[in-house]
Amino acid sequence: MSVLVTGGAGYIGSHMVLNLLDAGEEVVVLDALITGFQWLVDSRARFVAGNVADTELVARLIAEHDVRSVIHFAGSVVVPESVGNPLKYYANNTAATRTLIEACVAGGVEHFIFSSTAAVYGLVGGLEPVGEDVPLAPISPYGRSKLMSEWMLADVAAAHPLKFGVLRYFNVAGADPQLRSGQATAEATHLIKVAVQTALGLRPSMSVFGTDYPTPDGTCVRDYIHVSDLAAAHGVVLAHLRAGGESVTLNCGYGRGFSVDDVIAEVKAVTGVDFPVTRGDRRAGDPASIVAGAERIRAMGWVPAHDHLDEIVAAAHAWEQKLMVRNDIDRSR
Ligand code: UDP
Repeated sequence: MSVLVTGGAGYIGSHMVLNLLDAGEEVVVLDALITGFQWLVDSRARFVAGNVADTELVARLIAEHDVRSVIHFAGSVVVPESVGNPLKYYANNTAATRTLIEACVAGGVEHFIFSSTAAVYGLVGGLEPVGEDVPLAPISPYGRSKLMSEWMLADVAAAHPLKFGVLRYFNVAGADPQLRSGQATAEATHLIKVAVQTALGLRPSMSVFGTDYPTPDGTCVRDYIHVSDLAAAHGVVLAHLRAGGESVTLNCGYGRGFSVDDVIAEVKAVTGVDFPVTRGDRRAGDPASIVAGAERIRAMGWVPAHDHLDEIVAAAHAWEQKLMVRNDIDRSR
């Protein structure tokens, strides 16, 4: 019996693969390697290069490896890109997910865990944590492409013997504590990665996008979750579904927020480098604050092991140093 992880060569997917393998599971990874890296996939997993919308391939993997559970990470994730190229997002996220779900139903897959996003909430406005039941109002094609997939899953689960877990991610950061994986995308724009790269001298300086938000220090507040805790949340949901639990939709965050200034101060403290920071204009589409209402996932038995901003930053920093060494070796070849 195996678990099929789509997008298992990506940032979050590769940490899921580690979590499953460390728990003794058999894992099959399906990844088209468009944004993923095969070297992030632990060698204990069976790796297959391919597309989730390749029905024949998926059907064969389900049958050959006795796949009962699918964890679906594959997709496109860049919000501004989705605004300029919405059809890419409806193809890679919505349409591809539809085809994958169809193959899963045909192959008798019992559990389907889906990577969704806090982007389904849109500009929720206030500083209070966002619970799963607030009205859904995504503002980007990315968020809408994910919400459509959530709706499809709910409809399919009502009509077929398939149970789902929808996990809505907040701001994911950090790296595997053993540095077996981490965020490897070259042009990453995420705050912690950018700040750590600036501390390491890979960027001359960085900018704070907006200092006049209605937050305590004027900079945006986010709920940063360690990627290994996020992977563990999927493990909790998988165990719940395997035990016969009902389908669930859950926020994945810690339920507490840090401002951009908090994060930069932490990166300076952890690295010991006082790098240059400019204070710039707001970035389009950024809500002032998004913090997860995270009671539901905690009530299911999820106990975070890395809920410390300094630990998240230290892991991101150590991973970035590992990447620098790797890139140096590649360049010298
Ligand atoms: N941010 C920033 N400077 C940067 C990158 C990000 O000030 O170089 C801010 C961004 O405006 C947002 C927060 O940091 O308020 C988190 O941004 P990120 O891109 O990491 O994640 P998002 O919340 O957009 O998914």
